[in-house]
Amino acid sequence: MSAFYITTAIEYANGEPHVGHAFEKIGADAIARYHQLRGDTVHLLVGTDDHGLKVARSAQAAGRTPAEQADRISATFRRAWDTLGIGYDRFVRTSTAGHAAGVRALIERILARHPDVFYQKAYEGWYCVGCESFRTARELDDGRCAIHPSLDIERVAESNWFFRLSAFQEQLATFLTATPDFVQPAARYNEVLSLVERGLEDVSITRASLDWGIPFPLADAHGRHQTIYVWFDALPSYLTATGFPDTDDGAAWPAQIHVVGKDITRFHCVLWPAVLLAAGLPLPEHVWAHGFVTANGVRLSKSGGAWIDLDEAIERHGVDALRYFLLREIPFDDDGDFSWRRFESRYTADLANTLGNLTSRVAALVTRHARDGCVPSENHRDRVGPVGDAIHATQARVALALERYAAAFERFVPHEALAAVFDALVAGNELISRTAPWTLATDPTRRDDFDRTIRAAVTLLAQAAVLLWPVIPVTAERLWRSLGGPGG
Ligand SMILES: [Zn+2]
Repeated sequence: MSAFYITTAIEYANGEPHVGHAFEKIGADAIARYHQLRGDTVHLLVGTDDHGLKVARSAQAAGRTPAEQADRISATFRRAWDTLGIGYDRFVRTSTAGHAAGVRALIERILARHPDVFYQKAYEGWYCVGCESFRTARELDDGRCAIHPSLDIERVAESNWFFRLSAFQEQLATFLTATPDFVQPAARYNEVLSLVERGLEDVSITRASLDWGIPFPLADAHGRHQTIYVWFDALPSYLTATGFPDTDDGAAWPAQIHVVGKDITRFHCVLWPAVLLAAGLPLPEHVWAHGFVTANGVRLSKSGGAWIDLDEAIERHGVDALRYFLLREIPFDDDGDFSWRRFESRYTADLANTLGNLTSRVAALVTRHARDGCVPSENHRDRVGPVGDAIHATQARVALALERYAAAFERFVPHEALAAVFDALVAGNELISRTAPWTLATDPTRRDDFDRTIRAAVTLLAQAAVLLWPVIPVTAERLWRSLGGPGG
């Protein structure tokens, strides 16, 4: 048993949760639940990034204070994750006093070790409010951010505090070269490594013209405490959520894995590790960068056109069906397309036919034909004959599926784990069709064959209930109880 602290990206408190956000939370929740099954002490972190220009502006547009806006939107995200059954242990918010104290403690710790790592400099650059990030001219596409083509890029000229990121380039390059599994999947690792090898520039980490945020501990040339740049305040939330600079009885630093979108790897795999190195704190063990959910090939965005309404997706067939569809259809290591047609066919083929049919066939056989309506207990006769062979073959397929399932979750790819479970369920349906237990039940000389078939099928369903719990917890618990499983 070991500690498994898993974090997800904290969302900006400026919009509403969509299917893309839900994909990340559901994926992280499934991975967390898998580790719970393994017996690990799991802590799953979610939350909102309450600060920044984006939140301040959406508040202004809505006629609210930034704090009111953040409270409102943060509550919306929390409700969505509760509805989706995300079993988070902590919901962190960057506008809390505890978080601000943790960020100040982190900066002071860095200053104590590297007094020259922060310095002031006049800076001018292109800023994308969508990314909350400066963009170099080279990164712009026709004068626009590639991820936020509908937003105007803004020219910002200020004197700010800088973090000497360049000073950590060599150390980061050495670390990344020695630790290729730090960033996964491999394609994202290669991007990050080449980014670091191309050379790192120092980053502006305060804003002079924005008040909504945490004051930087050092005063500028005018005696003012500028506001900490939103990313420099958001990344430490993974650390402050553990009680930093103290410890609490929740998660312990370092995190075993940060689950983030592939568009924010530079913050998580370059800036954040450099900050931790500067502070002399351990780095997270892994950063997992998932892909995007698209609709008809277009990235989800309320302004950009493609949109899948989260409530509508939940209402279609319930929470578990949506959880299943997203994790089965969209690879966690790549982009994937959400289409209502695929949703319907996955729902019908997998949940209703494969899982639903096996469950109802087995339940009917037990009710109608088993003695006292109970699953027959084990007997010690040799498993010979065609029925015994069919059961052996099924059990061998299930054992293989179990191995594939665990290996897939260890590699953070729930879609492959689900494929393995459904292979096992298909094997179960084939066993029932091949052995036709309803005919065995009526033949007194074949009663043992009936008993052992039913026992094998019920065992397989019980295994499936456990294996499916990380992805479809409500359905899995219902199945477990219907089989007479203890606890639940
Ligand atoms: Zn952008």
